[in-house]
Amino acid sequence: MTRFNTQLVHGLSVNDNTTGAVNPPIYNSSTYAFESVDSMPRWDYARSGNPTREFLERQIAQLEHGTRGFAFSSGLAAIHAVLSIFRPGDRIVVGANVYGGTYSLFNEHFSGWGLGSDPVDTSDLAAVESAIAGDSQRGDVPARAVYFETLTNPLLRVNDVAAIARIAHRHGALVIVDNTFVTPYLQQPLDLGADIVIHSATKYLAGHSDVIAGLAVVKGDDLAKRLYYSQNRLGGVLAPAECDSVRRGIQTLALRMDRQQENAVAIARYLLAHPLVRTVHYPGLPSSSSSDTALASKGLRGFGGVLSFEVVPGVDPSVILDNLHVFRLAVSLGAVESLAELPCRMTHFELPREERLKVGITDELIRLSVGIEDVDDLIEDLGQALDKAYDALGVPGVSVHDSFADAARGCRV
Ligand SMILES: *Cc1c(COP(=O)(O)O)cnc(C)c1O
Repeated sequence: MTRFNTQLVHGLSVNDNTTGAVNPPIYNSSTYAFESVDSMPRWDYARSGNPTREFLERQIAQLEHGTRGFAFSSGLAAIHAVLSIFRPGDRIVVGANVYGGTYSLFNEHFSGWGLGSDPVDTSDLAAVESAIAGDSQRGDVPARAVYFETLTNPLLRVNDVAAIARIAHRHGALVIVDNTFVTPYLQQPLDLGADIVIHSATKYLAGHSDVIAGLAVVKGDDLAKRLYYSQNRLGGVLAPAECDSVRRGIQTLALRMDRQQENAVAIARYLLAHPLVRTVHYPGLPSSSSSDTALASKGLRGFGGVLSFEVVPGVDPSVILDNLHVFRLAVSLGAVESLAELPCRMTHFELPREERLKVGITDELIRLSVGIEDVDDLIEDLGQALDKAYDALGVPGVSVHDSFADAARGCRV
């Protein structure tokens, strides 16, 4: 068997053409001809399956060490399809700090369909256990599944997949992990006990901010059958051209992530020493809490290219963001170009402010997705933007207190 970095490049070749093309073809066909009325063709209609999508689905299943992979038109379409394998009356325990769209999907959409969800702090294993077991006094049924992200967004707390999976399986619950932030290059959750892995392939896997896509991989034939039913019936499938974009992105995943992590570590160190920065959240820093480092040494082979930091009180984070030139001010992450954003206004506004503060996403928190540029340009860019924020503190006639209060008010809307 070939090794991971070779698998990234080659996938599992399908050999269905006679041209010698080194890349799998993009089949732009919605339907496939039957040889005869009685024949059972391998492909009949492209929603149910097609060779371009199958290449990508086999590629991600191989990389995540799963039984079968599925490609969807977005990460949220993948999550929707996965949650649709459950039934009204089922209960799912959900990490308290999940992607905003996932939070809304649970709390606005699926709650209306009778699929219950209970938030839990996944770093507290005793809390995870009691949430999964449920409160029988309250009439809870044991949870059917626990759902969480490998690294939380935007605070980058490391979740211990193996420990959570052991607890979940003791109670007969499935383990669903959103592995978007680390990718199989840094961790393969199915090997640690997870049953289903989900990706927003929009991020690191595709890697170039040019496609919206989702992937899911399951362990076992039963889950494969159930998820295939959801994929084919709900129909949120990824089109062949997009499947090819993700396939090509995956080929360079290791190269990109190595550079992104190297840059992220350098930037985290720079920010840590900056007088306008109060805290830096990046598990790759030696100063991170030792339990995170210990956890990381168990399951993670790296820490990814996303980090976040809080500025000291009085500094307006939006002045920093509005003055960046190399970093683009944008949501999303995991691409070759560096992006910066203000979670309270841009990615996490769907979370009620109280919930947001409870999980530690303050109004002063800035998130960076570090790309593959020259790290000196990235650090210089941050430095000059921080200088502007420092200058803004001293502008005559503007009360620092007022401008900060305005920013905080803005974050509340
Ligand atoms: C972006 C993201 C999603 C949603 O994926 P889309 O491709 O935008 O639909 C889900 N989970 C995480 C962790 C994400 O970052």
